[in-house]
Amino acid sequence: MSTCSLLALAQSEDRDYERADYEGVEVRWCPGCGDYSVLTATQRLLAEEGLKPEETVVVSGIGCSSRFPHYMNTYGFHGIHGRALTLATGVKLNRPELSVFVVMGDGDCCSIGAGHWLHATRYNIDMVVLLLDNEIYGLTKKQTSPTTPQGYKSNTQPRGSFLPALNPLEATLGITNASFVAQTAEWVPAHLYATLQAAYRHKGFAFVRILQRCPHFTPDIMNELVTDRDQVQLLMHDDGINAPGLDKVFENRRVHDPSNLDAARRLASDSQQTRLGLFFRDESLPRYDDLRRTTRLTAEERIELLNEELALYAV
Ligand code: SF4
Repeated sequence: MSTCSLLALAQSEDRDYERADYEGVEVRWCPGCGDYSVLTATQRLLAEEGLKPEETVVVSGIGCSSRFPHYMNTYGFHGIHGRALTLATGVKLNRPELSVFVVMGDGDCCSIGAGHWLHATRYNIDMVVLLLDNEIYGLTKKQTSPTTPQGYKSNTQPRGSFLPALNPLEATLGITNASFVAQTAEWVPAHLYATLQAAYRHKGFAFVRILQRCPHFTPDIMNELVTDRDQVQLLMHDDGINAPGLDKVFENRRVHDPSNLDAARRLASDSQQTRLGLFFRDESLPRYDDLRRTTRLTAEERIELLNEELALYAV
């Protein structure tokens, strides 16, 4: 979005928003890419939550899904590989009044950005973090990523991925101070939307892994989950993620209390069953942005402080 149009919006009166208000430039993902559903759900969320475009920031790293900020009519930062969380941390610490959304792919978050993922989870700064996990590097043409299933053939490991896939839910739940961990799938729009809404309303670092199809490079990788609903188990609870009608669509359901961290870790680490829902939420955990909140300085106050510092070196 141009600065001029954002300024015009900022000067406009409060009003209701529609999804179209958040549409950015023409979208150029492959036909059928799962990223489209996530984009639509995010734009719908912003409209229904009444988030002003000029008070919303979408930050990404590098990858197919990282084109997200271009497609959103908000402020945005298309960063460098693996560094989306560092940029988002800077934005939120300096401008706490802004709503911050982070979009990462599996290579971006779980490989080069893994160190930042670990610490950002522990810092628990208030932001929505979407891991669009297609289990492959798409932008670099089908390279094995940390979440590629063991044995799956790629251009970098043509005989099949050597190692068992990294489990992002299990990893996040293992980090001290993780406060919100959920999983959803882009092909279940009602659940996707309800999950994004719960993540946005959570005060803290809301980590959402979104199972995302890549029809261009891995058309087969999530087929069974899409076509056979029984292969997906829905986590149900009054305090969980509840979307109308889903209990009728998914016969494979399980009650899980999202305040139970031990149970969340057990469910997340079970490689035999894919689960959608809220694994864990605790809003009482400390947030770095809360603990380190400082009063914003005026320009004059900043110059005065700077001059005091420089005076220390006067000869
Ligand atoms: Fe989507 Fe895969 Fe195409 Fe990337 S390569 S835009 S993930 S379908």
